Amino acid sequence: MNHTDVLIAGSGPTGLTLACDLALRGFAVRVIERRTGPHRESRAKGLRADSLAIFRELGMAEPLIVAGTAEVVLRKYFDGKHINDTPTPADGGLLIGQWQTEEALRDRLAGLGVHVEYGAALSGITQDEEGVRAELADGSAIAARYLAGCDGGRSTTRKLLGIPFEGNGETEPAMVIGDVRAPGLGRDAWHQWFTSEGGGMLLCPMPGTDSFQLQASPEQDEHGEPLPPSLESFQRIFDRCAGMPGIRLEDPTWLSSWRVNVRMATRIREGRVLLAGDAAHVHPIAGGLGMNTGIADAAALGRALAAALTGPDADADAVLDAYETERLAVASGVLADTAERYERVVEAVRTPGRGTEVAMD
Ligand SMILES: Cc1cc2nc3c(=O)[nH]c(=O)nc-3n(C[C@H](O)[C@H](O)[C@H](O)COP(=O)(O)OP(=O)(O)OC[C@H]3O[C@@H](n4cnc5c(N)ncnc54)[C@H](O)[C@@H]3O)c2cc1C
Repeated sequence: MNHTDVLIAGSGPTGLTLACDLALRGFAVRVIERRTGPHRESRAKGLRADSLAIFRELGMAEPLIVAGTAEVVLRKYFDGKHINDTPTPADGGLLIGQWQTEEALRDRLAGLGVHVEYGAALSGITQDEEGVRAELADGSAIAARYLAGCDGGRSTTRKLLGIPFEGNGETEPAMVIGDVRAPGLGRDAWHQWFTSEGGGMLLCPMPGTDSFQLQASPEQDEHGEPLPPSLESFQRIFDRCAGMPGIRLEDPTWLSSWRVNVRMATRIREGRVLLAGDAAHVHPIAGGLGMNTGIADAAALGRALAAALTGPDADADAVLDAYETERLAVASGVLADTAERYERVVEAVRTPGRGTEVAMD
């Protein structure tokens, strides 16, 4: 069986940040990832200033600062009519695709000699006072002193530990999402179309690419059921909301749906196994706090694990318990905050000239 100091399940922003942090401190780290390779999905596109500060410490902020956009103009339309343009405040954050953030983290990690192990899915956990034994879906096993479950909202780690994920969620998607090209549409602004009949579409130009991130209210079939995301459906919504007949959406490299889910784990520590990021909490995307909270969790967990790995055994319990207390309190605050920001956006966009900026107030 292979041994390591910390085994990290999941190579999203949380797992990769933690891996860089621990590798930089000189610990042996392995990262297992269920996917067979990296994705190229824009997903969480708002990297906040506090995350960038963490990335500076890790020595990998520069490529993101070069590739990203520091200020974005929000261009609001109502019933197809241009109402106003509002700049986002220069708050030290960046607009950048999640896949680019993950790529920069992976590059930094590779520079530290650690490579993500793809096609490796965690499927079982046993632990004792000495360490953790992680079983993988292919039948192999990895022994580690600690295991960090950074494996997303449907976390296998959390489920294997039997930790409840309390809160509530909607069964119907609130949004269809994707990455598309829109030749002819200006790339100088984040276009936000809303309508008096409700619903809308947002197209945000993603830096370093020729695509836009699309977010829209889903279409419904004749029974009122939401239609799944598709290029054809995106085009119909665009035609209805934007009324720009010359623009054809094309090349959908990512199609997805998003449901409102406000949930958090009741515990994020079980002995030598810790949870971080979406594995520990999921909440509305308004305000862009999802990925950023995971990055902050990872920085806090890196500090706690470093102390647990180097200090006396008697102190390890205290620092890991402190990680749990600190981050559960943060998660609880973020859940309430983002749910409120989301409601604010839903309400505001009924008024011409208002858009997602109200989530940042
Ligand atoms: C469709 C969609 C749109 C989003 N849009 C936004 C947005 O606009 N703004 C925002 O702030 N946030 C957004 N989010 C949320 C944001 O992407 C997440 O908060 C962020 O990705 C969390 O990072 P993470 O590393 O904790 O988890 P993830 O990014 O989910 O990474 C978890 C990783 O673990 C891997 N994994 C899962 N199970 C196992 C296993 N058993 N073994 C090994 N690996 C495993 C997964 O394949 C995945 O790569 C969106 C999420 C989705 C799904």
